[in-house]
Amino acid sequence: MGGMARPRTPVPVTLSELYQRAVLAPRTGCLVWDGRMNQDGYGQIGISRNHAAELGIGQTILVHRLAWELANGPIQPGLQIDHICRNRPCINVEHLEAVTSSENVRRSDAPVLSAFRLQAQRALQREAYKTHCVHGHALTPDNVYADRRGFRSCRTCQNERSRVWRAANPGWRQRYK
Ligand SMILES: [Zn+2]
Ligand SMILES: [Zn+2]
Repeated sequence: MGGMARPRTPVPVTLSELYQRAVLAPRTGCLVWDGRMNQDGYGQIGISRNHAAELGIGQTILVHRLAWELANGPIQPGLQIDHICRNRPCINVEHLEAVTSSENVRRSDAPVLSAFRLQAQRALQREAYKTHCVHGHALTPDNVYADRRGFRSCRTCQNERSRVWRAANPGWRQRYK
């Protein structure tokens, strides 16, 4: 094939270009990377060896770091980019903060600080007062479970969703064995 390099998706050079490759999660506002992930669950872009050499970086770009840099400029040495939303594939710069590594560790248990965290906390408090789900099922202790974000969810509705999904995917038992 001559000496032609295989064309690759170019690395986004503006934040809006990068955002076009993510999907909005409406409830949280997270912009979830719709591309390759590394084994730790962070979104990544692979670039050619030549391109990497040109830019003076490695061949793998972590997209949440790229998002932060496109919005704020180069990440200073010693800083790392922390997900305020704790959602690793998220690239919404409103959910990202540059912190020192020790701060990042300390923050895992720190009280809610930023506006986003306050908002999330209020949402959780509102949830705590809910007595019924949107479908009118009483949220009694035996009918409540905490979903992945810690929100109180209706077990009856969850069971119903599972039932519908299983009915629509008759081969599911085989596939997941
Ligand atoms: Zn997020
Ligand atoms: Zn329900």
